Amino acid sequence: MIRTLMLAAALLVGSVLPMHADADKRINVVTSFSILADFAKNVGGDRVQVSSLVGPNGDSHVYTPTPADVKAIGEAAVVIVNGWGFEGWLNRLAASARNSSRGGKITIVEATKNIPALKDNDPHDHDHGHHHAGEIDPHAWQSVENAKIYVQNIRDALIKADPEGATAYRANGDAYVARLDALDREVQAAVASIPKARRKVISSHDAFGYFASRYGIAFLSPQGVSTDSEPSARDVAAIIRQIKSEKIPAVFMENISDPRLMNRIASETGAKVGGTLYTDSLTDENGPAPTYIAMVRHNIKALTSALAD
Ligand code: ZN
Repeated sequence: MIRTLMLAAALLVGSVLPMHADADKRINVVTSFSILADFAKNVGGDRVQVSSLVGPNGDSHVYTPTPADVKAIGEAAVVIVNGWGFEGWLNRLAASARNSSRGGKITIVEATKNIPALKDNDPHDHDHGHHHAGEIDPHAWQSVENAKIYVQNIRDALIKADPEGATAYRANGDAYVARLDALDREVQAAVASIPKARRKVISSHDAFGYFASRYGIAFLSPQGVSTDSEPSARDVAAIIRQIKSEKIPAVFMENISDPRLMNRIASETGAKVGGTLYTDSLTDENGPAPTYIAMVRHNIKALTSALAD
């Protein structure tokens, strides 16, 4: 009881006399998912307070926004999203926030601006209704080259929201892009170490189109570019036939997907389970992919060890 009173008193004092004057000056940035939050933290540094609507290990394809999200985007200086249909729930959320009592203007920035889009043309998906052939594949961040464009777009959005911070955002952005350049070379070197004939794997959903296009590992998936419906029995049978005929060495779990299907595919084909790939979401601080750079490093390590001879 005494503790409760003390806590209440502390909260009261805190609300009257802000203890963290500097923290209060930070601009409030909301991102749709954890990878964008990591980019925004790297560019924004100590001038920004970043929060993510979809948290660690969350699946942005099928997310259901909460009333707290409506409030969060209503109060944000800038909202940064992927776009290209990745956040299918975004328009309704933005409309709710615009109609809420605050009724303020909401600035939404698509971080994929200027990135050359890939169409998803996985032949498995054509006639199943859960997936539209020719749909844009939204997972552009899986190419590190594209991640640099995300970072530039986020830098420009922060400068627009907080012009006084322009010098800091440019310096932070340049430093982070230099780390991404090094990471891009690291991925290319890792893939070069895998024998060419073994550069093909199965993952749960089509999240690696941009990775495949830049680095040259083929990915096949029983599920399309979204996770919003289960793959059909026919999709799964087709993948199993393909693993056998092309002798695909490994199948991978994803942190956002149910592992049971991939375990079943592995046991029916004799392909090995290569571990977990982090696709659409980071992990929390204690997981193996708390940042974008850690995520890419984890994925290339999993791929190279599963595909080595
Ligand atoms: Zn995805």
